[in-house]
Order: sequence, then structure tokens, then C-alpha cells
Amino acid sequence: MSKSWVVLGVDIGGTTTKFGFVDMYGKCYNETSLPTRADEPAEFLVERLHQAAESQWDALDEEFQLVGIGIGAPNANFYKGTVENPPNLKWGVVNIVDLLRKFYDEEIPIKLTNDANAAALGEMQFGAAQGMKDFIVITLGTGLGSGIVVNGEMVYGHDGFAGEIGHTVAIRNGRACGCGRKGCLETYASASGIRRTVMELLAEKTEPSEMRSISFSEMNGKVIADAAKKGDPIAWEAFQKTGKTLGLALSDAINYTSPEAIIMIGGLAQAGDLLFKPTKEAMDANTLNIFKGKVKLLPSGLKNGNIAILGAAALIWHEILISE
Ligand SMILES: [Zn+2]
Repeated sequence: MSKSWVVLGVDIGGTTTKFGFVDMYGKCYNETSLPTRADEPAEFLVERLHQAAESQWDALDEEFQLVGIGIGAPNANFYKGTVENPPNLKWGVVNIVDLLRKFYDEEIPIKLTNDANAAALGEMQFGAAQGMKDFIVITLGTGLGSGIVVNGEMVYGHDGFAGEIGHTVAIRNGRACGCGRKGCLETYASASGIRRTVMELLAEKTEPSEMRSISFSEMNGKVIADAAKKGDPIAWEAFQKTGKTLGLALSDAINYTSPEAIIMIGGLAQAGDLLFKPTKEAMDANTLNIFKGKVKLLPSGLKNGNIAILGAAALIWHEILISE
């Protein structure tokens, strides 16, 4: 295999679509982004993406060969190549792989998966899960996504949507979730979940807290983490509660696949020990005896800005490297 092979890795997000050319060692070339424009049809994005990718390709300093295109997107179906009713994009059901195929020859594989699965493949190929065959990646952003790898393979399930730990019920009849159910894990353990926890704590308690002067729309995971690190009691307790709920849910997840590690990534995971410590404590305290003390809880092993692009590219690299 030549070093000059690269994969075009694409991350389609609600506001921004990022892409770059990734070699087999996880080095990303000519990374850039374009607005997704969620109100426009997906065809327009795919056309603009193709044009932008062509001009970045022409601008590469070295000679490369394009060996595939990997795409991470919300609500993506690996089997069909479709994105199906993503909450932040007004696309309905659209086949992204077919749309992109118009611009690329048949011999260039194009694969699509959801962003959390892409992140898990990225960790396996280039990050904290290198050499592991069984692990779970939890992405803590606005929601909670998960990618489950068993025996070195991504678990897609019968229908292509497997790995929805974020929508397992953490608290029966709990908070209303965007999916229409109640008490889903992501309504507690995510950037928007911890924000709701802070609001509840502010209503329950009378302690002074800098959280009281921050509006709901300005409050995010980083603001809460910064306050907690400075000793704000409400912000600190919000992280304790979040970790407790998340750790209990993870101790359940361990029972299904016996992972070597659970890797927590995404915005809220940037809080570090503030979140990892209470999560690990609750996970270890509730883990079944046969698994106790055996499952690691790790941060991402990938460079931050690139996780989504590297993960999308890993979708192709994973298949090329296992077929070698
Ligand atoms: Zn839900």
C-alpha cells in the first residue's frame, strides 16, 4: 500500500459541514468547512461539497490518490446510504451516497454512517481504542450518541441504526425527550441535559450561585464546567448528578457487550475529571461483579477539532485495512 492514499472524510452537521483528506495514519490535509444551509435541499449541499472538495484537492501540496469517501451525518443509515429525518436538517429521507455518486466513479467507495459510529471508528483506527476489539464510544454533545464495537466490527443492527444508548430510559417517567419518550439518558447526560439539571437545582436550592445570573440560552456545558471548577456549588452538583445518572446507565451498557473500555468524547467530556470522576464512581459501584474493575473509562485519543473528519474517513480506512 502506498502512503499517498487518502480518504475524503466529511462530517455533515446541522450548521457546518467539515471535510479534509485523511491518510492511513490519521493525518488530515486541507481541512476546511462550508455552511450546511439546513433549509436548502440536500442536493445543493452535495454539489457545493463536491466543488469545495475539488478545489481543496487541487490545492494539495503533495500528490495523492483518492481511495474513498467516508461521511458522518446525523440519523444516517449505513446500509442504505440515507440520512433519515435528522432533527436539525429539513431533508426528510435523502440518499446522500447516491447524490454524491454522480460526481465520483464507481471504483471510489462512498460510505455513510451516523456521527457517533464514525467517532467510534475514528477512535479505533487512530485514537484511544487502537488495538481494542470491544469498546463503546459515547458522544456528549447537544444529545448523547453512541457507537458500539464488538469483535472489531461496528454494530449496525438489523436496520442500520443500532447504538442508541442516549435513548435508553435512565429515569422512568422522567424528562420529556425530543424523541417523544420520557426519561431518556440524553435528557440528563448531554450538554442540554446538564443545563436542565442546573435549572432544577437553582429552583430547589437557595445557595448563591453565579448560574443564577446566566440566562438559559447562554448556559452551556463549558460555562457550567468553568463555574464548577471555580467552586460554584450548583454547577459542581450538576456535574455530580450528571455523572451519577450516566455512570449507572454505562454499568448497564457493560452487561450487553462486555467492552474493554468506554470512551467519552464531545463537548461535555471536555470537562474532564469533573464529569469522569462521578461517572466512573457510579459506573464501578453499579457494575455487575463479573465485570467489576475491568472496564476503563477513557477520554478521546484524537486531536479535538478533527474527531468528526477522522472518524468519517476511518469508515473507509477500516474496510481497506481489514481487507489487506
Ligand atoms: Zn429519547
